[in-house]
Amino acid sequence: MRLDQICCLDDAVSRRVLEDYGAVFIAADSVRVPPACVFSGEEQVRAFQDAVGICAATLGGVEIELQPVAANALLDARDEARHEGFEITPRGGVEAARRGFDDTLRLWHSRIQPALDYWCVRGRLAPERADDLRRLAPCEQVSAVLELEVEDIFFSKDFSKSVLYSVAAPGTSQHLSMLAFDVVEFREPAVRRALASHGWFQTVIGDLPHFTFIGREEQQLIAHGLRRVEADGQIFWIPDV
Ligand SMILES: [Zn+2]
Repeated sequence: MRLDQICCLDDAVSRRVLEDYGAVFIAADSVRVPPACVFSGEEQVRAFQDAVGICAATLGGVEIELQPVAANALLDARDEARHEGFEITPRGGVEAARRGFDDTLRLWHSRIQPALDYWCVRGRLAPERADDLRRLAPCEQVSAVLELEVEDIFFSKDFSKSVLYSVAAPGTSQHLSMLAFDVVEFREPAVRRALASHGWFQTVIGDLPHFTFIGREEQQLIAHGLRRVEADGQIFWIPDV
């Protein structure tokens, strides 16, 4: 696999996306990795998900969907956690695992619209500029938002940091690849240990409940191009780019 086959290296947004969410690309051979670091739209997402095969699993009374190998590993991790007296349950219902492109688009807008209103009211953003941004296509909107964030006009839920710590840009979420699962019990060390021993790791700094299926042993991750970062008292494995 070559970097320029999965990511448009001249494009700042693609590079940022690869750095933030690219851990999936070093997943085990049993995992199907996405065709690019940014899905182009609903059609490409659906084709990918259909080709991989969608596997349902029930956790905490909620049916979630993942790649088959990821779903099986998650159920094994849940069983291991139960031996220690803990459950592993989905955070946010069915959206904890597989999502469609339109779901990621809706989540994106749920951050962008309130932030535009917030900064207009505070006089940091001209209403005309906000309207221009609203009219852009999703991928152009990402670039425009990241440019505003350079001026400290932030789009996260509390307007204090980059939107990318709050929600993935449309088409970039690991949930589209069916390799991500948001966990209620992420603060329990025993839960994190059980997940890690079955190939599930935290790979997005600042998104603590979000676990990514890599399908490899923890000791192998550095050799495959991830680096270990400690943040918020937890261990994250992020692309070493
Ligand atoms: Zn997530």
